[in-house]
Amino acid sequence: MTVDSLRKILELEQARGFPDRAVLGGVDKFLRNLTLADPRLVELRSASYSALDRRGREQWARHVLGQLERGDGKPRPPAPGAGDRAVVDRRLDSSVASLRGVGSNLASRFDKLGVKTVRHLLHFFPHRHVDYSQTRLISELAIDAEQTIAATVWEAAEKTNRNRRRSTEAIVGDESGNVRVVWFNQPYLAKKLTPNSRVVISGRVSEFHGRKVFLSPEWEPVESGDLTHTGRLVPVYPLTAGLSPRTVRRIVKATLDRCLPELPDFLPEAVRKRARLLSLPDAIRQAHYPDSELGKSQARRRLAFDELLVIQLGVLARKRAWQEERTSFAFDADARCLEPFLKSLPYSLTGAQKRALAEIQRDLKKQKPMHRLLQGDVGSGKTVVATAAMLLAAANGYQAALMAPTEILAEQHYKTIRGMLDKATGQCSDREGVSTYDSLLPRPVAVGLLTGGLKETFKQEMQARIASGEINVVIGTHALIQKGVDFAQLGLCVVDEQHRFGVMQRLELRSKGGSPHVLVMSATPIPRTLALTLYGDLDLSIINELPPGRVEIKTRWISPAQRQAAYDFVRREVAAGRQAFIICPLIEESEAIDARAATTEYERLSLNVFPELRLGLLHGRMSSSDKEEVMERFRSGDLDILVSTPVVEVGVDIPNATVMLIEGADRFGLAQLHQFRGRVGRGHHQSYCLLVADTPSAEAKERLSVLQRVRDGFVLAEEDLRLRGPGEFFGTRQSGLPDLKMARLTDMELLDLARSEAARLFEADPYLKQPEHAALAREVSRFWESEAELN
Ligand code: ADP
Ligand code: MG
Repeated sequence: MTVDSLRKILELEQARGFPDRAVLGGVDKFLRNLTLADPRLVELRSASYSALDRRGREQWARHVLGQLERGDGKPRPPAPGAGDRAVVDRRLDSSVASLRGVGSNLASRFDKLGVKTVRHLLHFFPHRHVDYSQTRLISELAIDAEQTIAATVWEAAEKTNRNRRRSTEAIVGDESGNVRVVWFNQPYLAKKLTPNSRVVISGRVSEFHGRKVFLSPEWEPVESGDLTHTGRLVPVYPLTAGLSPRTVRRIVKATLDRCLPELPDFLPEAVRKRARLLSLPDAIRQAHYPDSELGKSQARRRLAFDELLVIQLGVLARKRAWQEERTSFAFDADARCLEPFLKSLPYSLTGAQKRALAEIQRDLKKQKPMHRLLQGDVGSGKTVVATAAMLLAAANGYQAALMAPTEILAEQHYKTIRGMLDKATGQCSDREGVSTYDSLLPRPVAVGLLTGGLKETFKQEMQARIASGEINVVIGTHALIQKGVDFAQLGLCVVDEQHRFGVMQRLELRSKGGSPHVLVMSATPIPRTLALTLYGDLDLSIINELPPGRVEIKTRWISPAQRQAAYDFVRREVAAGRQAFIICPLIEESEAIDARAATTEYERLSLNVFPELRLGLLHGRMSSSDKEEVMERFRSGDLDILVSTPVVEVGVDIPNATVMLIEGADRFGLAQLHQFRGRVGRGHHQSYCLLVADTPSAEAKERLSVLQRVRDGFVLAEEDLRLRGPGEFFGTRQSGLPDLKMARLTDMELLDLARSEAARLFEADPYLKQPEHAALAREVSRFWESEAELN
């Protein structure tokens, strides 16, 4: 397949009068294959030869032949200015309002979709495509299928129906027959569809009074020869109010035509060849306006590769930076100073906990900052390991900080840790929210709490005591990484439930110290290849064992009809001295709406269902002190049932609670449901997780049945990846992973490929300083900067 055969085919078409029969399968198909084989011909892709009438075909063929004549095989010379990087970059980074046809009004609509610059627009990929690529004869149209015709308009007129709704009705025809087309509520179309003009129509065919009719299909005139809305794989974009599908398609298409020819490819040619990837302009065009399913999947492969490569290069750079760092914090991590603490615990550490602690101790002894990920399923006992590490920091005269994703969890950690220390020392002096223990370590340990919800004066007082070094173990939330929080000598950072933080937030806590040791904790086990890519900069400790005596949680997915039975069950558990959580569905629109829904549910349950029991309410809109009070009452057994929004998802530890009843369970992802389930079964009592879903989708049903079957968090994580399947946005922002648009974390082949190419680049040019890597280096920093912005 060469340019030469294209010339022959067009000449043959010319000789025969343009019947589109000169090549088997038609000229369009030939062009598609040809342009995939020879990316220089990319502009021929969207020609839609078959949709043109005789004159159109003739003109087009003459145009292409003329250009082939000029001998470079390129239908159009590159746009002027291509290659002038600075100019191109400036153009790409200018606002979408700089595009022709985009005023400030449209620009503000795009802004709502996160599209601010021309570059964003190029990367504003469709959710999916509708396949309108097969053109049919009118006589072949089938009822109830998405189809495309190329036809001539015979007549078009505005009509008003009985309900006074105005519409456009047209009759169009091809050599096989005629068909009626109706556009509701679009009377103005009648004027655009001039008789005898050629149009392409794509849409669903219905039957009306025994006749076929297109109802409000997509359409466009043929004359451009370059189809946007019909007759091809047509992109379906995310929309927002005031932005119609047609407008978005038109603007994206014009931008591609305008910008792609001059878009430089940041990927070194050698990498692109080795990995068999499309060029960047090709990939972007194919992602929006693919020629075929093949083109689409090749586009996805290239763009996904880019994301993974860039992440990997960032991770490698971070790892190198960390390895080059030296710190004065080589702790004397002698286990002896931990002995009294470990001895005072009401249990002994599991083998896995001991191993993880030993690994941490080994790291802390080095003149190099630790960067360790502590992974262990919900309830595996990570908190006590982290506490031991923080005590080591304190024993060495340094400060330690633990950051948790919610106030409730920070509060709980504060209590748990104080509880452990109280027990270990038997004495504690409490002063203005700081608990000081004098006898445990060679020097005093003072524990303080810092969250956003605290009173301003109290917060300032706390900040001052952190800055002076008086407090050496600080527990908190995001409040810890705010401006104004300065540590005297931060030696260890612990980030709990790290998946709830962005990549950059995790690093921010660290930046509060010189080069402190870092321990991040996660209950989300992920497959090894993925861990190596995303956390390749961290060393890994795994707690793969639950404390002894845990009884397996029984998980039941029940129908709404069984709700009463579930309530009776809760009542029986409470009668037996246990407690229950009832989680209200996630509404997502806003925390305020969630809060209101939870309040209503709480009232209903208190008045109508459990009038004899003690219920508490918890939601994100409550003041810190109210939240704290409710949690405290629940913890101390003062409440039987805690009705809550999803704020209790992570970390909450109430060993006496045995029932987790989740309403609207279909609204949650598997990882989240597993976290909720992990709130019970933390003591010795048999525990239960009850899932209620009113109208679950097919996928939700699958998730719920997986959760019922699978208990192991690791297996569940793999199931989760499998279920998310192809094409879906991985809820990466939520999971604390970088924001991926194209990459699927299940695509192990591509993960491996990106990793090995990154390693190769890194080895050859670790700082990406060589001129041929300059564009790539910019891409890496662009990606990580946007990560930082989003966090
Ligand atoms: P997670 O790993 O989910 O953060 P936690 O640290 O909250 O788990 O621990 C869960 C529960 O297990 C807590 O109540 C804790 O006291 C208890 N626990 C931790 N380690 C052990 C152990 N070795 N033996 C018995 N119970 C333990
Ligand atoms: Mg925890």
